[in-house]
Amino acid sequence: MSLKIVVLAKQVPDTRNVGKDAMTAEGTVNRSALPAIFNPEDLNALEQALRLKEQNPGSTVGILTMGPPRAGEVIRQGLYRGADTGWLLTDRLFAGADTLATSYALATAIKKIGDVDIVIGGRQAIDGDTAQVGPQVAQKLGLNQVTYAEEISVKDGVATVKRHIDGGVETVEAPLPVVITVNGSAAPCRPQNAKLVMKYKRASCPLERPAEGTPYDNLYEERPYLTLNQWSVADVDGDPAQCGLSGSPTKVKAIKNIVFQAKESKTLTASDADIEGMIKELLDEKIIG
Ligand SMILES: Cc1cc2nc3c(=O)[nH]c(=O)nc-3n(C[C@H](O)[C@H](O)[C@H](O)COP(=O)(O)OP(=O)(O)OC[C@H]3O[C@@H](n4cnc5c(N)ncnc54)[C@H](O)[C@@H]3O)c2cc1C
Repeated sequence: MSLKIVVLAKQVPDTRNVGKDAMTAEGTVNRSALPAIFNPEDLNALEQALRLKEQNPGSTVGILTMGPPRAGEVIRQGLYRGADTGWLLTDRLFAGADTLATSYALATAIKKIGDVDIVIGGRQAIDGDTAQVGPQVAQKLGLNQVTYAEEISVKDGVATVKRHIDGGVETVEAPLPVVITVNGSAAPCRPQNAKLVMKYKRASCPLERPAEGTPYDNLYEERPYLTLNQWSVADVDGDPAQCGLSGSPTKVKAIKNIVFQAKESKTLTASDADIEGMIKELLDEKIIG
């Protein structure tokens, strides 16, 4: 059975290499000081998608990403590894999205792509760190979902997924179509293929190209596959009120950069008194509640 697979891939600042310039004076992320990378667990998701494509002849893998025009790089990185196509959701109206608005945008695009058998995303993005987007996409599309996946196979319209759970591994089955999120402990993604890099290195979305044109404009006319899909809110028939900032109920009041000192640490025993004391303190400080 051939499968139409969509991989959700986010371009994120490389929060694993945070230096002294990573935060602005206002306490927001200084994105220009951090290299933009393919979200690590989305690479694990891509590898699972490419394996399914190999095991099910005739299958296709497409990369779906929402971000600024430069996020087109995520699609190229996918094409270099064996994906067939990609879609960049980019529009000022998508900007400032929390997980609700992000999953709305991605779900709307998946509907527009149509007839998708499997949506595979990473478990979590390393910048927002919520792990909510995959499950929310499934809920918005009314699809089954399987999280914490390590290995996926498909037979007779049913996905069999090995899940990494506390204390072991469990195997579950879910009928297609299904949304699956993949753990970082799943197989790492294959490296870029040199031939595919040569084939796609000029691939770009129209908004990535300078307005005055590029030296490769002839190439884009001769090879339509080098022009990547770029969709706005209108292109996916989205409701602007549910996108970006206006569709985001989350409001970040303030971000503080806190560096703990050794003298601020407390050592607790496993006694009921110590644990009750800690919970009381957290409640009093309104850290939990
Ligand atoms: C410091 C910080 C704190 C934040 N706190 C919150 C918060 O408390 N509540 C909230 O709602 N939002 C929050 N956000 C915003 C949130 O990060 C964004 O909504 C983000 O676009 C999606 O959430 P996530 O990064 O947590 O993704 P996750 O839910 O962790 O991502 C899971 C998977 O979904 C897919 N995915 C996620 N985003 C995209 C995308 N743009 N394109 C394609 N695939 C994607 C990827 O496969 C990814 O691995 C925060 C952002 C930052 C930087």
